[in-house]
Amino acid sequence: MTKTAVITGSTSGIGLAIARALAKTGANIVLNGFGAPDEIRTVTDEVAGLSSGTVLHHPADMTKPSEIADMTAMVADRFGGADLLVNNAGVQFVEKIEDFPVEQWDRIIAVNLSSSFHTIRGAIPPMKKKGWGRIINIASAHGLVASPFKSAYVAAKHGIMGLTKTVALEVAESGITVNSICPGYVLTPLVEKQIPDQARTRGITEEQVINEVMLKGQPTKKFITVEQVASLALYLASDDAAQITGTHVSMDGGWTAQ
Ligand code: NAD
Repeated sequence: MTKTAVITGSTSGIGLAIARALAKTGANIVLNGFGAPDEIRTVTDEVAGLSSGTVLHHPADMTKPSEIADMTAMVADRFGGADLLVNNAGVQFVEKIEDFPVEQWDRIIAVNLSSSFHTIRGAIPPMKKKGWGRIINIASAHGLVASPFKSAYVAAKHGIMGLTKTVALEVAESGITVNSICPGYVLTPLVEKQIPDQARTRGITEEQVINEVMLKGQPTKKFITVEQVASLALYLASDDAAQITGTHVSMDGGWTAQ
C-alpha cells in the first residue's frame, strides 16, 4: 500500500530534502510552503520525478489554523489521511528581548509550535484507524539549549519537545511513533538569512558570525547537510524505528554535548 507523507515547509531547505528522500521510497508526497508559483511548480515537478506516487503542493499558511484544517481535509479525501507527518515549517527572528517585536513572537510561536498542534490533531485519527503512523517534528538544538536573542525560537522549539513527548504517550499503543530531530546548524536559506541579522545585532562581520558564533558551538566546525537530516528522518519513518518514540535524536556536531 502506497504511503502518504505530508511535509510542512517543504519548498526549501530541510523540508525539501526530506520530501525528496521520502519520494524516492515511492510515497505520495504532499508538499507545503511558500514560493513564487513557478518555483513551486518546479519543486513539485522535481519531487514528482523521484516518486512513483502522487506529488502535489498544498499552500496552507502554517500561521492559519483554518488553512491547516483545509490541508488535513484534502489529504483525508485524496489519500485517506497521512501515514507520515513531518512538521518542519519554521521561521526565525533575532532580536534582544526588550526590542523583540510582538508580531514576530506571535508568528514564530504560530509557525514553529502551534502549527504542529493543528497538523497532529488532524493526522492522528486516520493513523489510529490504520494502526500505523510516523510523526517527526523538526525541532533544533535550540529545543534543548538556548542562545541569546532568539527568545521566541527557543521557546517554540522547547515547546515542540514537550508536545512530542505528550502525543507519543497518548498514541503509544496505536502503532504511531512521535519523535523530534534536533539539528545544529544546517546551511539552508533560514540560516543564510540569519547571518546579516546576527552581524547587525552583534556588531560583527558576517564571516565572524559564521566562524565565531554559528560554528563556535558546533565542535565538528562543519555545517550539517540537509541530506544528513533527511536520512535520519527516513530511519525514524521506517519499521525498524518502531520502538523509538517520545524522544529526540540530535544531529548537532556535538553542540549539546558541551
Ligand atoms: P528554510 O527557510 O529553508 O525553509 C522553511 C520552509 O518553511 C520553507 O519551505 C518556507 O516556505 C516554509 N514556511 C515558512 N513559513 C511558513 C508558513 N507560515 N506556512 C507554511 N510554510 C512556511 O528553513 P530550514 O533551515 O530548512 O528549516 C526547516 C526547519 O528546520 C525549521 O523548523 C527550522 O527551525 C529547523 N531547523 C533548522 C536549522 C538550520 O540550521 N537550518 C537547525 C535546526 C532546526
